[in-house]
Amino acid sequence: MAPIAAADIPTLNLLYKLKKLDTSSSPSPKRASDHNDRVGLIRADITSLAVDAIVNAANKSLLGGGGVDGAIHRAAGPQLLSECRTLNGCETGSSKITDAYNLPCKKVIHTVGPIYDEIRPERSKASLQSCYKSSLELAVQHGLKTVAFSAISTGIYGYPSGEAAMVACEAVASFLDGDDGKKLDKVIFVTFEEKDVRAYNQALPRFFPPAAETSAYQGMNAESDPDEGDQAEAKAEAEAKANQLPSVPTTDPADPSRTQKKQKQDTEA
Ligand code: ADP
Repeated sequence: MAPIAAADIPTLNLLYKLKKLDTSSSPSPKRASDHNDRVGLIRADITSLAVDAIVNAANKSLLGGGGVDGAIHRAAGPQLLSECRTLNGCETGSSKITDAYNLPCKKVIHTVGPIYDEIRPERSKASLQSCYKSSLELAVQHGLKTVAFSAISTGIYGYPSGEAAMVACEAVASFLDGDDGKKLDKVIFVTFEEKDVRAYNQALPRFFPPAAETSAYQGMNAESDPDEGDQAEAKAEAEAKANQLPSVPTTDPADPSRTQKKQKQDTEA
């Protein structure tokens, strides 16, 4: 599969223009997010992305596992495991960085998500927020500008996808609002399974609301809008761009290695 460049991953602005993100169930925003041209969304195998950094949902040992971790280690080759062995593991909510070896990205950021704790969901939320924040901090420290996140903790670690997507969007939005956020060109959410596609479709418009003219919020004023010609042109341009986008999996991938990480010694979040 040919690698997908960061520039080819659709931004939220483009997706709103194409009405590929449903804003109908979100509350009408007070104002559009400033970040919609620096946040991307794609349903893809994260190992195919030629971005500066991909973020791996690792476990505390950092020695590989199932799910996305397994896919990343397989695609990167055995040198990744050798480098990971030198890192002495990683705490839940923290992140470490390695080279990417045979992957098309430049670096891999390994973050350890929480195993979802339904008795203490607030604790899980704080750890998950910290995963996103610490990963983005590492990216900035290393001068990496395009960062793609897998849906941390939503697989084997059992974090409900809807809640996890909200935490992810909130944490990324708040990082982009800060001074260090200006140093990033694009933060990309990578979905894989259908449940995460649905979760991000719901969460993104809440935390990154569309500008009025690109959203379903335009309502009654649309017909009398003097900029209608410009909008039609922008839509045509967006559609032309979208036709060049890479195709994404249409069915949920079956991954026989998914159960492997559970068998590892990680027992607490
Ligand atoms: P965790 O243990 O943190 O839950 P998993 O790897 O089990 O980590 O799952 C995290 C997310 O990664 C899930 O949403 C899963 O669907 C997704 N995923 C699995 N394989 C890939 C892949 N190759 N590319 C992108 N996402 C993937």
